[in-house]
Amino acid sequence: MTVRTRFAPSPNGPLHLGHAYAAVIAHDLARARGGEFLLRIEDIDAARSRADLVEEILADLAWLGLEWHGPVVFQSERLASYAAAGDRLRAMGLLYPCRCTRAEVLAAAREIGPDGPVYPGTCRNRAVDPDGAAWRLDMAAAIRLAGPLEWEDEIAGIQRADPAPFGDAVLLRKEAPASYHLAATLDDAADGVTLVTRGRDLFAASHVHRLLQALLGLPVPVWHHHGLLVEPDGRKLAKRRGSPSLADRRRSGEDGRALVDALRAACFPAGISLGPGVESGT
Ligand code: GLU
Repeated sequence: MTVRTRFAPSPNGPLHLGHAYAAVIAHDLARARGGEFLLRIEDIDAARSRADLVEEILADLAWLGLEWHGPVVFQSERLASYAAAGDRLRAMGLLYPCRCTRAEVLAAAREIGPDGPVYPGTCRNRAVDPDGAAWRLDMAAAIRLAGPLEWEDEIAGIQRADPAPFGDAVLLRKEAPASYHLAATLDDAADGVTLVTRGRDLFAASHVHRLLQALLGLPVPVWHHHGLLVEPDGRKLAKRRGSPSLADRRRSGEDGRALVDALRAACFPAGISLGPGVESGT
C-alpha cells in the first residue's frame, strides 16, 4: 500500500517555524517510503479562516521547496460529507442536540479534558430544539457500541483507545459545520492517508479519531506524533509571542530550502529547540 501523509494547516493565522517543521516531517516520511504527501487546508471555521492566508500557505510551501501530490484539498468543499456522517451518527442514536453556551459549559464543567472543560451532559436527556443546535457525541454510548479499540503510533507503539476524557464532544455545529475531530477523521479516510503525522499536542485527539473510525467504518491509519518546536520557556511557538511567520522570513529574503535543510538537521534558530517527543511504549 502506498504510504500517504498530509500537512493540514488551518488558515487562521500565518504559518511559523513549527508548521514548517510539521510539514517537513510529513513530506519526508512519505518521500522516504516512496509515498505521497498531500496538502489539506482546514478551512471550515468560516469566522476564522482567511482566504489571503491560504495564498500565503501555498507560497510558504513553495518557498520551502515542499511539493505536494495532487490538488490541494479544501475542507470547505466537503461540508456535505461531514453532514452525511452526522446523519449516520444521529441515526445510530449517538448524537444529541445541545444549546448550551460556552459560558454555561464552563460553569457546569467539573473536569478539564484534553480539549478544555468537559461537558457534563446537561442536554443529553433534555428535549432540545435541534434547529441551529450543536450536536454532541454521547461518548459513553459510543464507547459501548464500538467496544475496545487500539491504535498505533509509530513511536509510542500500540495504544488502547481512551476517548472518554473528552466527554460528550461537539462533532457538528452551525457556524463551523464539523468539529476538527470529525472533519479530520473523515478527510484522512477520504484522502487515503495511511500515516497521520502531527504534533504530540494532538496525541489525545487520536483516541477520539480512532473511535470515530470504528463508528463510521473507516480505514485505520498509523499515527506519528512528533515533538514540537518550543521557545526557551518550553511553550510551543506562536506568532502572538513574537515568532516570525514563514511569510516574514520569505519576504526578508531568507532561503527557504536552506531553512528546511536546517530543520532536517535539527539546527534551530537561537532560542528555539525541539520539545520532548512521545515516549516509546507510552
Ligand atoms: N488543522 C490542524 C492544525 O493546524 C491540523 C491537525 C492535524 O494534523 O490533524 O493544528
